[in-house]
Amino acid sequence: MQTPKKEIYNFQSEVKQLLHLMIHSLYSNKEIFLRELVSNASDAIDKLRFESISLPELYENDSDLKIQISVNKAQKTLIISDNGIGMNKKDTIENLGTIAKSGTKLFLQSLETKKNKKNELIGEFGVGFYSSFMVSNQVSIRTRLAGTKPNEGILWESSGEGEYNITNIIKKTRGTEITLFLKKEEEEFLETWRIKNIISKYSDHITVPVYMQNYDEKNKTYFWEKINKAKALWISNKSSITDQEYKDFYKHLTHDQNDPLIWSHNHVEGKQEYISLLYVPQKASWDIWNRDHKHGLKLYVKRVYVMDNSHEFLPNYLRFIRGLLDSNDLPLNVSREILQNNNTTGQLKKSLIKRSLSILDKMSKNHIEKYQKFWNEFGLVFKEGPAEDHENIDKIADLLRFTSIQNNTSEQNISLKTYISNMHDKQEKIYYITADSYLAAKNSPHLEIFKKNKIDVLLLSDRIDEWMMNYLIEFQGKKFQSISKEDASINKINQETKIKNNDISTEMINFLKKVKKLLGNRVKDVRFTNRLTDTPCVLLSDAKEMTTQMAKLFSAAGQSVPELKYIFEINPEHILIKKICFITNEDEFNEWIKLLLDQAFFSETGHLDNPHKFISRMNKLLLK
Ligand code: ADP
Ligand code: MG
Repeated sequence: MQTPKKEIYNFQSEVKQLLHLMIHSLYSNKEIFLRELVSNASDAIDKLRFESISLPELYENDSDLKIQISVNKAQKTLIISDNGIGMNKKDTIENLGTIAKSGTKLFLQSLETKKNKKNELIGEFGVGFYSSFMVSNQVSIRTRLAGTKPNEGILWESSGEGEYNITNIIKKTRGTEITLFLKKEEEEFLETWRIKNIISKYSDHITVPVYMQNYDEKNKTYFWEKINKAKALWISNKSSITDQEYKDFYKHLTHDQNDPLIWSHNHVEGKQEYISLLYVPQKASWDIWNRDHKHGLKLYVKRVYVMDNSHEFLPNYLRFIRGLLDSNDLPLNVSREILQNNNTTGQLKKSLIKRSLSILDKMSKNHIEKYQKFWNEFGLVFKEGPAEDHENIDKIADLLRFTSIQNNTSEQNISLKTYISNMHDKQEKIYYITADSYLAAKNSPHLEIFKKNKIDVLLLSDRIDEWMMNYLIEFQGKKFQSISKEDASINKINQETKIKNNDISTEMINFLKKVKKLLGNRVKDVRFTNRLTDTPCVLLSDAKEMTTQMAKLFSAAGQSVPELKYIFEINPEHILIKKICFITNEDEFNEWIKLLLDQAFFSETGHLDNPHKFISRMNKLLLK
């Protein structure tokens, strides 16, 4: 017989990079390689179970699905085998020689910039199969795809250094057998107790049984011992599951190293029948802001695994939620296409949104510190809610957190309910301001009248805020009001300082006329204001027009924005205004007014069209 030909392949460059990292990083938690391999084996068995629903012959008369682990101390090898779906040649090249996951490049880049957090990130990313090279000099895989002939087996071998070999072999049983040739310093992984310990830590609740080969000293025989519970955790009764088990299962499910913040496990019967187990993580996954972020729940139908990352059940603004859904109402042969156009999906989504919002609601009431952690980590994602989910807008609004003048810290920790409970007697609206930064918001001249009257204002400075406020119209009967827009409600609260026309001198009235004439249609209007205390003037948006922040959002998104015309408000009580009012030299007067307008523009928008002109004008006036 001819010896089969060995073919040599190069790893894709990203894989090389990743392997290099795996082999040389000082990752302390090396035992996770076993979790990864067992999880792959369990996935392979899940896939077989699923595909054999329509193709029972894939079982090849062996339906006793299991994972087996054995060691050979003499050869220092650890062998993990499964009778799952297996791989053909093309599969091994695609799955083990390249990284299909999009965003891997980004991941690798993020490793470059976060050198000290590298180990954490490696765990978070769930490097999967490649983690076997953390503990091995050499890995060889014998595998055969279910339903193919015994002579279509594949031997895949690599030392993780840049290339791998593929050889055709005969493999009688379907599935995959992975042999790790352990590094000298990793021999602890040959110890039965060590392996049992890792399996019970990470793989107790996978649905597949894991067996370990043991030696019976007395009878001098080998026997297989089951070393995990092999019962799907979510099927068990809530009361029989410990917190630790929930946490371990979370780690198994997500490959996240951190404990979850909180979770909710529900068996639902009645019109809909399903089990859901939803977790709120502590930390955002590294790719949560990527467009192709793979979020979504692990989907089971009647206990059979169907797919990962089914994003059909949760909206984008809840994409941080991890967990699983086991439905009795979906068809077993469900595909992504079916999911997308399915009534049941829609109903499930509704219930899961309710469930998720109620987890957050409970956390916000009963675990305030945890909720604050959640908000600091995921608030920005959650703020997409009002725009995305109108149906639940009241609940979402209730869960939002803000900072405000009176809060006096940039931490967003005030709810709208708290804001309302602190409202002034005569205050009708919820006041807010949007700006580019917390400091810009906090020091905006628009706040002066509010500070004077001790009325609180929400300070919004996240990029998404202006967008979100577009969708928040009212909360508990109170309307939202941007204070950089003109609005009459403020006069009610500011009774005492209301400007009475007869208080204003003739000089001032003439002054206003002159300013109006000078600025012409550069502004929408010029008027006196009582909103200011320390600042001579501000720009205000017309109630019907776009605000400055909205215009910025539009132009950042590459859309054309009509030129904004502002209302120029002048504080007649300000000493500078009082002085300018008496300047008789027309040129000098004009220069001053233009300088004031530029100042107000700068303070409102954070930039100037012609900064140089502004500076030279100011210097000229300073010299006088
Ligand atoms: P992931 O499990 O996240 O997809 P891995 O690196 O762990 O990433 O595995 C890569 C791929 O290799 C898997 O998606 C699967 O297609 C294939 N694979 C790994 N182990 C097995 C196995 N025991 N049986 C069948 N396919 C496997
Ligand atoms: Mg994997």
